[in-house]
Amino acid sequence: MGKHLVVIGGTAAGMSAASKAKRVKPEIEVSVFERTGFVTYGACGLPYYIGDIVKTEDELSDFTPDELIEKRNISTYIHHEVTKIDPAKKTLELHNLRKKECFSVSYDYLVIATGASPIIPNISNIHASGVFFLRTVEDGIAIKSAIQEEKTEKALIVGGGFIGLEMAEQLSLLGLEVTVIEALPRLLPFLDEEYSNAVKQVLEENNVHLCTGTVVSEILADGDKVVGVKTSDGATFETDLAIISIGVKPNSSIAQNAGLKTGVKNAIIVDEYMQTSDDSIWAAGDCVQTFNLITKRPVYVPLGTTANKQGKIAGGNIAGDMNTFKGVLASQITKVFNLYIASTGLTIEQAKEAGYEVEEAKIIKMDKASYYPGGKDNHIKLIFDKRSGRLFGAQAIGSESIAGRINLLATAITAGMTVTELSELDLVYAPSVAPVYDPILIAANQAKKKVVSL
Ligand code: FAD
Repeated sequence: MGKHLVVIGGTAAGMSAASKAKRVKPEIEVSVFERTGFVTYGACGLPYYIGDIVKTEDELSDFTPDELIEKRNISTYIHHEVTKIDPAKKTLELHNLRKKECFSVSYDYLVIATGASPIIPNISNIHASGVFFLRTVEDGIAIKSAIQEEKTEKALIVGGGFIGLEMAEQLSLLGLEVTVIEALPRLLPFLDEEYSNAVKQVLEENNVHLCTGTVVSEILADGDKVVGVKTSDGATFETDLAIISIGVKPNSSIAQNAGLKTGVKNAIIVDEYMQTSDDSIWAAGDCVQTFNLITKRPVYVPLGTTANKQGKIAGGNIAGDMNTFKGVLASQITKVFNLYIASTGLTIEQAKEAGYEVEEAKIIKMDKASYYPGGKDNHIKLIFDKRSGRLFGAQAIGSESIAGRINLLATAITAGMTVTELSELDLVYAPSVAPVYDPILIAANQAKKKVVSL
């Protein structure tokens, strides 16, 4: 009989680990326990499910539990919560949430892929009806039902990060009157201020109300139902629905209780093989601490791209591979109405904090030849070492074409390229697709001028 791999958590990291282990070593017995009613779903699609671009919740999942059993021979259990890990006995305690039964299973190898949970602010009426957090398919279904089945005209989003803004866009497109409240002085604070202001402008042009630099101090409820919020500056906002999106925290308590080491924000510490401080336990995804590819410092960067890769590495290594995770640049992108926003690598503040002497260069350049119709501006900012010119980070706003450019810049950072080397790249040109000097080359040439050689 094969060894038993148990995976806690059935989405990006967990299912990647389960599938990879089974592919590399088919004889391994794999069981996945997931506490919600869905597996292999993409939380990233939830705003578009709520916005009805994706019609049904089933479309968000790649496989049902039955399909995983039939097609991949992975025993998949939904509505099952792991409540305790006993590393000495190599057993888990489980709670079947439907049957309300507790039982235990043993493992030879364990992958913890428990992800993260929304941060819940400690304010009154936070659990009132109509106040939502967005993480699971069940959360998405509850929000979509509230919009479709109840008289919902006004929506309030607390938190002006990527998820908050994606929700603001989708709810506004559904015809709701949307207000975003952000505690910091500006939206997406990691972004260049000018870029952040451009995001603000596009939201306001699309009738999304913004209120920055103020904190929601109280949820106002009529009986059990949310009717508004009060902010720290004394203002009140009426609403029919509130979505709180102020960040996430790793689901690491069962790992901590089992004595596993944790680090940044209590995320589980793993080595480059995704192994925890226990020889038989691996962990991956939003529940783990990772490290920055440039500074090599520990960071907590919960992203779907990272979770999938880390899960695959953990599962492969359990089955006999020896692959390592190379670190993150926190590359990310989103769209708010017709404006795309992307970043990769270090911000100028992070680079300075890491001890680098940094400089930045910013350009605006059309994404097609100037005479070709339909061209749109690409705004690109490069962050680089003032002396060596080594590229540390990049940010971009503009048309959809910034996705390819930010990916190229992520590649350049990974390769340790300087802005001079970047300026010498042989990039494509055709009037209908890109100008003869690509915006990246223009930005790199601008940056080169700011490098001060000793
Ligand atoms: P999770 O997806 O959190 O999955 C962990 C699973 O473990 C959950 O299903 C949970 O129910 C289960 N679980 C937890 N504890 C237990 C337990 N004790 N027993 C059993 N099961 C348990 N990332 C991007 O890269 N790009 C995007 O565009 C993007 N958009 C996003 C939009 C939204 C609205 C959200 C919420 C997230 C978005 N993300 C995006 C982040 C991305 O979804 C996460 O990084 C990714 O889902 C992490 O995967 P994971 O498997 O580590 O954790």
